[in-house]
Amino acid sequence: MEVNNNIPFNKPYLTGKETHYIYQAVASGKISGDGLFTKKCHAFFEETFGFHKCLLTTSCTDALEMAAILLNIEAGDEVILPSYTFVSTANAFVLRGATLVFADSAADNPNMDISTLRSLITPKTKAIVPVHYAGIACDMDALMDLANEFNIYVVEDAAQAIDAYYTNRKGEKKPLGSIGHLAAFSFHETKNIMSGEGGMLVINDPKFAARAEIIREKGTNRSAFFRGEIDKYGWVDMGSSFLPSDILAAFLYAQLENLNDIQNRRRAIWERYHQALTPLTDEGKITLPFIPNFASNNAHMYYVVCKTAAHREGLISALREKGILAVFHYLSLHKSAYFESKHDGRTLPHSDFYSDCLVRLPMYYELSTEQQNLIIQTIQAYYLSV
Ligand SMILES: *Cc1c(COP(=O)(O)O)cnc(C)c1O
Repeated sequence: MEVNNNIPFNKPYLTGKETHYIYQAVASGKISGDGLFTKKCHAFFEETFGFHKCLLTTSCTDALEMAAILLNIEAGDEVILPSYTFVSTANAFVLRGATLVFADSAADNPNMDISTLRSLITPKTKAIVPVHYAGIACDMDALMDLANEFNIYVVEDAAQAIDAYYTNRKGEKKPLGSIGHLAAFSFHETKNIMSGEGGMLVINDPKFAARAEIIREKGTNRSAFFRGEIDKYGWVDMGSSFLPSDILAAFLYAQLENLNDIQNRRRAIWERYHQALTPLTDEGKITLPFIPNFASNNAHMYYVVCKTAAHREGLISALREKGILAVFHYLSLHKSAYFESKHDGRTLPHSDFYSDCLVRLPMYYELSTEQQNLIIQTIQAYYLSV
């Protein structure tokens, strides 16, 4: 038995240029925020994806917190978000005193079931926060129609959604993160493009652009001062320190330059899993990621949905015995220790189902064909036994 192959769940990929650019950033003598590499990253995103305005942050968590401040979220406001998500989607709004209204996932994928949202909207609803799980788009036409009907802001949690697209009803292909009023990306080392920790706020509604700069710079108009637009800067609003050192941006820029290469490799790995495992879906043993016609695939994640929690536990153990680390994902936030007593009591069965039955397979640039074969064979062998 080939024990100890040690196939991790994730392995951050280095393009080779990261330390070179970090050295350049250090040598430039300006290593605080908004230096040369931060500007290069902003320009890359604005040119490649057509985002109106981008601001690097130290994390996606920070970008979401900035979004909540920008929307003036305060006590009494309601925010609708999926229960099946990372805590930061929720915390950003809790920190401003919002009441969270958790939506269930869809039956056929972990994204929010948009058809349930209308019944969750009240006069107090201030924002909806869709999460594009695994980089697969939510139905943004339906979501934006609803938000516009009720004058509600939309903040896309696009943490997993770099280089992912939504095709709208006019047939236009829109990058995720360009559709809501605001959007937040993550460059945590588990994401496709990363800088260890890192994130970005995208401002699509221009009315938020000037204030976003101020909030990110401790509530001061220092950004305008550095551009020479004003002759002294001061405290003009609330804010915090959300901008990353240029060292982080230097790392990130090396990754961005290799976006296509990284994405091609990840897509190849994703497709290989998908082809090899599809026969198991025909036998009804597992369910694989569902990509609606309006969504593209950015190969952020490959997951399998087992029929029961017991099957998932068995599968994770079978993989672990071969030295392969496969991991489950979110625990429904409406049932968390922090939130359960605050939840309005609705059951969210699909969210719970993904909490119990979804498992993510190793997915990273350097995953070799032999390693992937072993993973696939181990899954196939396990399903011969159940
Ligand atoms: C990774 C992730 C975050 C948090 O990103 P950080 O950069 O670690 O703060 C938030 N939401 C979702 C859906 C994520 O996957």
